[in-house]
Amino acid sequence: MDPSRDPLLLTPGPLTTSAAVRDAMDRDMGSRDAEFVALNAEVRRRLVAVVAAEPEYTCVPVQGSGTFAVEAALGTLVPRSGKVLACVNGAYGARIRQICQRIGRDVAAVECPEERAVDPEAVDRALAGDPGITHVALAHCETTTGLLNPVPEVAAVAAARGRRLIVDAMSAFGALPLRAEAVPFEAVVASSNKCLEGVPGVGFVVARAEALAAAAGNSPSLALDLHDQWRAFEANGQWRFTPPVQVLAALAEALRRHADEGGVEGRGARYRENLRVLQEGMGALGFVPLLAPPVQAPIIVTWRAPGGPWSFEVFYRALRERGFAIYPGKLTQAPTFRVGCIGQVFPDDIRRFVAAVGEVMEAMGLPSGAPGAGEGGA
Ligand SMILES: *Cc1c(COP(=O)(O)O)cnc(C)c1O
Repeated sequence: MDPSRDPLLLTPGPLTTSAAVRDAMDRDMGSRDAEFVALNAEVRRRLVAVVAAEPEYTCVPVQGSGTFAVEAALGTLVPRSGKVLACVNGAYGARIRQICQRIGRDVAAVECPEERAVDPEAVDRALAGDPGITHVALAHCETTTGLLNPVPEVAAVAAARGRRLIVDAMSAFGALPLRAEAVPFEAVVASSNKCLEGVPGVGFVVARAEALAAAAGNSPSLALDLHDQWRAFEANGQWRFTPPVQVLAALAEALRRHADEGGVEGRGARYRENLRVLQEGMGALGFVPLLAPPVQAPIIVTWRAPGGPWSFEVFYRALRERGFAIYPGKLTQAPTFRVGCIGQVFPDDIRRFVAAVGEVMEAMGLPSGAPGAGEGGA
């Protein structure tokens, strides 16, 4: 297999990874071996350091994709008598609400339109009106559209009303700034395969150690009980159930590379430059983004489908033949497609992508990327 033949993944994840990260997986490690125990400790320590300081905060990794970690966090940190306020302006906010319903946690929602940030004042009103709400939960970057939610403002509102905050930072962790010292949070949830540029297979929660300690017996699930998982790590540095050893070896390497790139600041700067080049290039071809610049995160961009002879499938296949994988839109109303800025992707890759889009438009007979009439064009 020649990885150079794989397309560049301009998606929300899994993403294009570096050869060094993939090579780190070329190992067999015993789950109880001292080397693997040390590797876990390194991974947990590095993950905490991205957003908070030890020992107030600690990291509990969990096998699976990001959703497993979100479900584990809600089930473990929200007591059975608790109630969650889910901030919903896209599919991932809606998923928080759905998880609560499924695991039997009382839940209310503040709903906002998909192209608008969650409104902290609406959150404040909801909290004022319902003293039963114990936790507020929201997505940092709502990957449905690529929108940046105002986590610091929502955190301030929650703190002022004495409620706890759980942040789904899946597509933001490692690239968008968030620090516990400035933004009071109970827990932040993310996974290996987005801005950290590891491979998929593990999620994790960085939580206040005190909250984890108080969460014994909360979880309706055995496998997703973060309190028990944490106790096991604290006892002997080992996983309760079979760990994805190669995924963790890759994540350790990915975290070292993240630090070498300058941590959140360095990685965020590369993604912002990717975004700038993408906006400039696609804009010159006539494409119009869904979101206004102030709420556009440098993670993934939703583009309105052009007017004329448009077919996502045809567009996708033609780009795929040229070495690029993009993503369909995930909106209920307007037809859209998405292009990611994250992963081992550099501004020159984005320039090559924009050139390929130009070729494909010509082949499809699309004179411009401008949205058709009635599709909410500029
Ligand atoms: C990717 C993502 C998730 C988790 O998705 P999985 O498919 O389970 O990895 C959750 N929330 C957000 C905001 C995401 O971007």
